[in-house]
Order: sequence, then C-alpha cells, then structure tokens
Amino acid sequence: MATDLVNTSPEVRSAGEMLPDPAALARFLADHDLHSGGRTPSHDDLGQVLALRQEVRAILESTDEDHVAEQAGALVGRAGIGPGLHRDADGRWQWHVVTAPEVSLADELAVLIGVGLLAVLRTLSHDRFRHCASPVCNGMFVDTSRAGRRRYCMPDLCGNRLNVANHRARHPVPDAGKEGPSAT
Ligand SMILES: [Zn+2]
Repeated sequence: MATDLVNTSPEVRSAGEMLPDPAALARFLADHDLHSGGRTPSHDDLGQVLALRQEVRAILESTDEDHVAEQAGALVGRAGIGPGLHRDADGRWQWHVVTAPEVSLADELAVLIGVGLLAVLRTLSHDRFRHCASPVCNGMFVDTSRAGRRRYCMPDLCGNRLNVANHRARHPVPDAGKEGPSAT
C-alpha cells in the first residue's frame, strides 16, 4: 500500500500524476480493497492523501532506522487506537489497530501504512525499504517478499523498461528510434 501510494506521484510516473482527482483516489482505494466508509473521497481528502504520500516517501527515503520507527509510529498515532488482537478468517490471532471514529480518510490511511511499515521494520529489516533498481525510475518500494530480492518498484513496468534498454544497448537497430529533423 505504501509502495503503491508513493509511486502514484508525478515524480515517479512519466505519465504524470496518477491521483489527479477524487475519482482517481476512489479507484486507487478500491484497487486495494479499501473503502472510505461508503463515502466518496472529497477534494480535501485528496489533498490530505497527497500530503501523506510525501510524508511516506520521506520515511522510505530515510537512512536513519530510528527515525523511520519514530515517524511510522507517528502515522499510527494520528488515529490509531489499540493495538488489539482479532481472529482472522482462519481463527488465528492477528494484530488489529482500530481507528478512532470520525477520522479523515488520510488519517485512516496513515494508520494502515504506519502499522505496515513498523511491521516490516520489526519482522524483516530496514533494508527492505529500497529505491527502484531501474536507472530511469525514481520510484521506491517496500520489499515484503519472503526472499527479499525484489529490485523494482513496479516489477512489470520497471523491470521490462530496463530489459528493453539493455536489449537495445546490445542490439542497436539502425534507423530505429532516431530523433531529429532528418525524419521525414
Ligand atoms: Zn521503478
């Protein structure tokens, strides 16, 4: 969730801002199985979520592990109550952080993301917060895979982009991709 939110930014996506309006935010939430209590996100919600996006990016970029723990904890503290244990669908106990009633959408997301970042820091490690390995991508990601060998923020996109670039470097195609006034 943190990864996907950070990478909706125009500083990462060459296509531009991926959350240009409240409807795009609503789609983003639905794609992550989140619903904002049945209400449609407002322009205020969008502005606050974009501000949160910058904060999360700064946390991912921080090289100071203690700072990360502190800042991610502060996200949880915005609206989180608890933690407590709830049984999941298989009857196993899972940590559950309830949010205060009437909190903003951005604060709900802050709690969700903050808990996620703290969990990664504790159970995996700080080196799971990484910059995308693609030289043409400014994205960041949190590697929650078991093996911990993820390299790209958007594997389908950034991995392929790099493969294409490497392929072109090894096999230059004459007359292909030329730019300039000579093109007719
Ligand atoms: Zn990337």
